[in-house]
Amino acid sequence: MLQCAVKRFQDSRIHVSGRVRCVFGCRVVLLSLILAGAVVARAGGQTGTVADAQGQASHALSTRVVAYQIEARLDPVKKTIDATEILTYHNLTGRPLDTFPFHLYLNAFQPTSTFMREVRLYGTRGADPESVWDKKHYGAIEVKSFEVVGQGDFTKRLEFIQPDDHNPDDRTVFQVKLAKPVAPGADVVFKIVFHDQLPEVLERTGYKRNFFMVAQWFPKVGVWWHDAWNCHQFHALTEFFADFGAFDVKATVPENYLTGSTGDLVSTVPNRDHTKTVTWRAADIHDFAWTASPDYKLIEDAWTGSAGTVHIHLLLSPGHESSIRRYLEVIKGALDRFDRWYGPYPYDRITLVDPPQGASDAGGMEYPTLITCGTGWWVPEGARVPEMVTEHEFGHQYWYGMVATNEFEEAWMDEGINSYTEAKVMESLYGKDTSMLDLWGMSASDADILRLEYVTLPDTDPLSRFAWQFMNSNAYAAVSYGKTATLLLTLEGIIGEDTMRRAMHTYFMRYRFTHPTGADFIKTIEEVSGRDLDWYFQQAVHGTNVLDYEVLAIRSDPLDWFREPPSKPKKGVTLYRDTVLVHRKADFIMPVDIQIKFDNGDRTLEKWDGRDRWVRFSYDKKARVISAEIDPQHSVRLDKNFFSNSSTEEADRRATHKLSTYWLFATQYMAQLLAWLA
Ligand SMILES: [Zn+2]
Repeated sequence: MLQCAVKRFQDSRIHVSGRVRCVFGCRVVLLSLILAGAVVARAGGQTGTVADAQGQASHALSTRVVAYQIEARLDPVKKTIDATEILTYHNLTGRPLDTFPFHLYLNAFQPTSTFMREVRLYGTRGADPESVWDKKHYGAIEVKSFEVVGQGDFTKRLEFIQPDDHNPDDRTVFQVKLAKPVAPGADVVFKIVFHDQLPEVLERTGYKRNFFMVAQWFPKVGVWWHDAWNCHQFHALTEFFADFGAFDVKATVPENYLTGSTGDLVSTVPNRDHTKTVTWRAADIHDFAWTASPDYKLIEDAWTGSAGTVHIHLLLSPGHESSIRRYLEVIKGALDRFDRWYGPYPYDRITLVDPPQGASDAGGMEYPTLITCGTGWWVPEGARVPEMVTEHEFGHQYWYGMVATNEFEEAWMDEGINSYTEAKVMESLYGKDTSMLDLWGMSASDADILRLEYVTLPDTDPLSRFAWQFMNSNAYAAVSYGKTATLLLTLEGIIGEDTMRRAMHTYFMRYRFTHPTGADFIKTIEEVSGRDLDWYFQQAVHGTNVLDYEVLAIRSDPLDWFREPPSKPKKGVTLYRDTVLVHRKADFIMPVDIQIKFDNGDRTLEKWDGRDRWVRFSYDKKARVISAEIDPQHSVRLDKNFFSNSSTEEADRRATHKLSTYWLFATQYMAQLLAWLA
């Protein structure tokens, strides 16, 4: 998803800022800002792989552990769903299993849940800590009956568990202990009847008037991973983790509703009661979401890549016609870049959901082969928020969808790597300096805005921390999204952009459909680059060290300073002792280059390993030093403060000060804008 946070600019190389990523509780959808002195604009299927609901397929891409058959009926008045679920679980763990945990995500939307407890503690995308409970956001999922085929009715033996925080009021995970264990290699079939109460949309899920975004809506079994069940409670800052498999889903909705879903539409059958039953099917995916609304307009397009043709379905909400071209342009551009750079998109469909006015909290989220976007009629061309959101959610098809890392435990592996590829794709599509903003003479890149997200809270938490254990939601956003993207962009400066792209390609192709870990990612980067990068990843991924270098002083001192009377300085004649003092202000150790310029046109590039706290370069020359700049290639993007990276003569320093004052103003202005929007 897209985690909101105020992004600030503090970069002397850019002259304007802005974007707001997810805001608490809401999510992006729009926004564009800007100023330059004033102004604001508010503004399935699968490749030849067809599987039935038992997970049988001739060309499975994944190890299909689960097969879900769900029949659901939507009550558009009560905002409820009644459904039956038949889950076939293939025991591929190599050991007998007698206990199975299940997620009940919708139970997070209750005032005493762990999710809401954490919202009150540190906020989340949908709400800040001061938000008041509103019962319209109540959500629930109730298991009405639970049968284990061949073993009987276990409904009364379901037990809520709270493996993460022991909150007895949290009901987002239950487990069942079977009478007989499921042997290795055998199947077990669960028949579950359940009832959903959808909330008014929050956290990407729910209804708004007659719009329905039905996500995290069915009992979902945990993942047997690393020799244990992995089934975390639903937290304010966590996303999801599930096994791959096949889905066969039927939903009965009013006959005038247009629907979209994960996977492919198989059939639509009208019923006598002014409803219709739609059937969808998908395989080699690990989640299933769907949407319905009478107000959607379907826009169809297609794109052909290395794995064949991908059908693009855009479900557009009223008033957003002006965004059609923008949506289609960015989705096709993203499909193309991912296909060429990282690997094929193997599914035959991507569905874009454009939430209606007032339902922006459903936007900016990813599900297999379906993404939710966000726009508004007021978002001007050049403020690329709709493009960025669409690209971001599409990118998740690779990192969340196919690679499928554990989002509870290693959020950076999805959100962060995805933010990095977002910056790369946006730059490729919309220009290096204009990938996020190109409006009214102002420009900003997506990479710079991600970096600004990082510098707001650079040192509270390591990337590798479990998502719900971050200090607060802003720290989670700054680190999981902004810092990860920035450290991977910085890594390009160490191993080279081409090598980085090859490493990402190797990582994707090797680990798709396998649930890798951060160690697998790092190992792949080291292998492809042929470099030992432990020194870098230990600091950047596992540590909270801040990277910040500064030019502390430049000085030109005449060697004949002691003469009496003093000699008059003469250009090209007077001999100076030129010195440049560079300081490592923080703990992150990084080799850096320093470019030094003299007033006779000479320049020199010094390399420093950065290990000591400071270094002084000294030259005796018939020239004065006029400037020194750390990292003249601007590749060390992790450096927290670019303003201190160079020192020049007085006039330039004043300009820098002016610029920083401007950014302070812009930042405060944006914070106010954010408060207004929230
Ligand atoms: Zn995301």
